[in-house]
Amino acid sequence: MKAYRAALLRFDDAHQPLYDEDGLLVIGPDERGQQVVRAAGNFNTLKDRYPGVAIEHLPGRLIAPGFADLHIHYPQTDVIGSPAEGLLPWLENYTFPHESRFSDPAYAAEVATFFLDELGRNGVTTALTFATSHPQSVDALMGEARARGLRLVAGKVLQDRHSPDGVRDQTEQSLRDTEALIAKWHGVDRLGYAITPRFAPSCSDAQMRGAGEIAAAHPDVWIQSHVAENLDEVKWVRELYPQARSYLDVYRQFGLLRERAVYAHCIHFDDHDRALMRETGAVAAVSPTSNLFLGSGFFDYAAADQAGMGYGLASDVGGGTSFSPFHTMLAAYHVGRAGVTGGGAFKQGLSLKPSQLWWQHTAGAARAMGLGGVVGNLTPGHEADFVVIRPDATPLLARKTAQADSLEELLFALIVLGDDRLIERTVVAGR
Ligand SMILES: [Zn+2]
Repeated sequence: MKAYRAALLRFDDAHQPLYDEDGLLVIGPDERGQQVVRAAGNFNTLKDRYPGVAIEHLPGRLIAPGFADLHIHYPQTDVIGSPAEGLLPWLENYTFPHESRFSDPAYAAEVATFFLDELGRNGVTTALTFATSHPQSVDALMGEARARGLRLVAGKVLQDRHSPDGVRDQTEQSLRDTEALIAKWHGVDRLGYAITPRFAPSCSDAQMRGAGEIAAAHPDVWIQSHVAENLDEVKWVRELYPQARSYLDVYRQFGLLRERAVYAHCIHFDDHDRALMRETGAVAAVSPTSNLFLGSGFFDYAAADQAGMGYGLASDVGGGTSFSPFHTMLAAYHVGRAGVTGGGAFKQGLSLKPSQLWWQHTAGAARAMGLGGVVGNLTPGHEADFVVIRPDATPLLARKTAQADSLEELLFALIVLGDDRLIERTVVAGR
């Protein structure tokens, strides 16, 4: 067992923050040998309950749950910051040419190593990530994540049509590859597999049907895809599937909406779509830096809450512009604030509370993924993934955080002014 004394943030079951300015976090192995939180709370209350346990004192530091990124593309690490006129030209000109290089296992391994380093530097301890259409791109990432003891979920992209040579796969082989990768990686240590149709336009009916059949056969395997990101894309899906009620409805028809199904964006939805998400248990990966960068639109928080639909935050690198959860939370705040009218659409502007933005990127994201109670929080029983934050990481942060009169003020200063410099240490599985 080991203990850390510092300010301590975690969340209760009602998503509210629990905060101890002088806190103690005690970690140790559970019956599986997994390092988990054994106790968390006020230092003076807990300190005598663990005699003989070494306490590392971290004065001036804040310990918080490791961040969970609900949607990211590890092969797009080098696509970040590529200029393009919207989603479809961006895919064609940058993303597909880049992803074609992942047929080379050595190249995939080099990017996987850099990518996981970058997640760690930014305090992200769990990610749901796309690989490319090449099975070796999954092997490269999973092998490296396993060596680091990470709780990570990834999948081989399915895209057997409307995709250029080099990334397009073949229907039957792609489904066999998916089955083989599930057998090889799903449930190995802390790893999970996600069935990964890129998006409806890139998958034939046969491939989508096959993906749905695999999903039905493996209910604890994840599903990840994109939906209703961009108006040109929505129009294209309407042309491809004129019989579907909506873009989201295409995924329903193929059995791809259920718990552990995570759909990036979910911007151009109506209330039927939101109700369908709630009824099926599928959730949204809200990707605000990506949506602002590509001019895709604004996720409607008020409508999502009204419908009771689940969601969490995501970077969506490389459409997203940062690995940093602080940048993502700030962009989510901007997206929430935006009130939009026009074209028959209306979105209410609101101010998301700092602690709620933080929840959406930790415990809320974990819950959306079906990993509630496992990661994303630091109440007893959660796996010991956390970050040590240095609130005085820059002169302006030091000045601003010193003036914070409440937890909300402190968290908002970190969100607005913070980046990877805030993350002094990232602890994964107690290491
Ligand atoms: Zn994406």
